[in-house]
Amino acid sequence: MTQTSTIPLEKTPLETYVPPAKPSLIGLSRAEIADKLGSVGVEERHRKMRAQQLWHWMYVRGAKSFAEMTNVSKDLRATLAEHFTVDRPEVVAEQISSDGTRKWLLRLPSGDDVQKAHEVECVYIPETDRGTLCVSSQVGCTLNCSFCHTGTQRLVRNLTAGEIVGQVMVAKDRLNDWPQAVGADKDGNRLVTNIVMMGMGEPLYNFDAVRDALLIVSDNEGIGLSRRRITLSTSGVVPNIVRAGDEIGVMLAISLHAVRDELRDELVPLNRKYPLAEVLQACRDYPGASNARRITFEYVMLKGVNDSLDDARRLVKLLKGIPAKINLIPFNPWPGSKYECSDWEQIEKFSEYVFNAGYSSPVRTPRGRDILAACGQLKSETEKLSVRERDALRAMAMTD
Ligand code: SAH
Ligand code: SF4
Repeated sequence: MTQTSTIPLEKTPLETYVPPAKPSLIGLSRAEIADKLGSVGVEERHRKMRAQQLWHWMYVRGAKSFAEMTNVSKDLRATLAEHFTVDRPEVVAEQISSDGTRKWLLRLPSGDDVQKAHEVECVYIPETDRGTLCVSSQVGCTLNCSFCHTGTQRLVRNLTAGEIVGQVMVAKDRLNDWPQAVGADKDGNRLVTNIVMMGMGEPLYNFDAVRDALLIVSDNEGIGLSRRRITLSTSGVVPNIVRAGDEIGVMLAISLHAVRDELRDELVPLNRKYPLAEVLQACRDYPGASNARRITFEYVMLKGVNDSLDDARRLVKLLKGIPAKINLIPFNPWPGSKYECSDWEQIEKFSEYVFNAGYSSPVRTPRGRDILAACGQLKSETEKLSVRERDALRAMAMTD
C-alpha cells in the first residue's frame, strides 16, 4: 500500500432533499416564482409583476411572512400562505466568539421525516472594513481532504439553492442587516459585505444550486452583493472551474496546499482525478481573471509537511503567468487531526519568500477558534462518524 492510497478519494452516496409539503419560495428564480403564482391561480398577465413584488419583499426587506407584504392583496397573501412559505433554515444554536465571530448551526428539514433533517454551519466574520459570511454548500463533503474536519463527516447531501441563499438571509436576520428594517443602518452600510463559499462542502460538486443561489444574492434588485465580493473556493473540480467563471462570474479561490502531485494526492485526494497541471491550466483559462481580479491560492500551513522554503520556491514557479495571490492559512487543529500547524516563524519565512517574488501573501488570521468556527473546523455534531464507520472507511481505503 502506498502512502497516497490511505485516503479514499470520494464518499458515496448522496442523500437527496425532499421538499416539504409547503415549500419556501426562497431560492427560486423570478421565472420559477411566476410559475408558482400560476399554479395557485394568478393570471398570466399579473405574474411577472407579482413575482417582482415578492422578490422585493424577500430580498430587499427580508420579509419572513406573506402577511408583511402589504402591497399584495389580502386574498393573494392568504392564498400564498396556504401553499408556500418564505422560511429560511432554522437556527438551532448561535455562538459568539470572543473576537466577534458568530457561528450558526442551522437545521435543514427534508420531507416530513425528522430523521432526515440535517445540519450545517455558517460563520460571520466581522472586520474593520468588511463583514464576511462563510457559507456552506453541502452537508458534509464527499471529498476526504486529510486535514479537514468536514471531510470526516459521514452524511452528505447537496444543499438546495434555497438553503444556500437561506444562510445569507439568516445572517442578515440575526445581524439586523436588512436596509429597511427598524433599527438597521439605512445609509447603505451593510454588515454582510462579502461572501465566501468556504463553509462545509465542495461548491463545484453542487454546481447548479450554488450558481442559482449566487445569482440571487448578487441580483441588483435584491441583496445586491457585487460578484467581486463573492469568492468561491474549490479543491479543484477542473471541469466546473471554467463554468463557474462563465455562468456565475465570481472570484475564484483554489485550495492548492501542495506543489507536488505526490503530496497533493494525499492532502487533497481529488488530485488523483484532477492533478496539479490540469488545475493550473483551468486557472489560466478562468474567464475574467486579470491583475485586478486575481485568483486566490489557498495554502494550509502544515508543520514539516508542506512548509519548507523549497515548497515556497516551487509554489512561485508553479503560479508563473497566472494572476494570483496566495493566502496562507495556519492549520486549525480539530479533535483527532493528525497534523500540526507550522511554527509562526516558518509561516513568516514562507510568506516573505512568496511576497518577495511579487505575490501578495497575507496569512489568514484564524477567527473564532474558541467556537470551532475557523477554516476546516466546521462539522455538525450530529453527523459524527462512529468508531465502526471510521474503521470501515479505513478498510475501504486499503482496497481503493
Ligand atoms: N471545499 C472547498 C471549500 C471549503 S474549505 C475547498 O476545499 O476549497 C475552505 C478552505 O479551508 C479550503 O482552502 C480548505 O482546504 C481549508 N481548510 C480545510 N480544513 C482546514 C484546517 N483544518 N485548517 C485550515 N484550513 C483548512
Ligand atoms: Fe471538502 Fe474542502 Fe474539506 Fe476538502 S477541504 S474535505 S473539499 S470541505
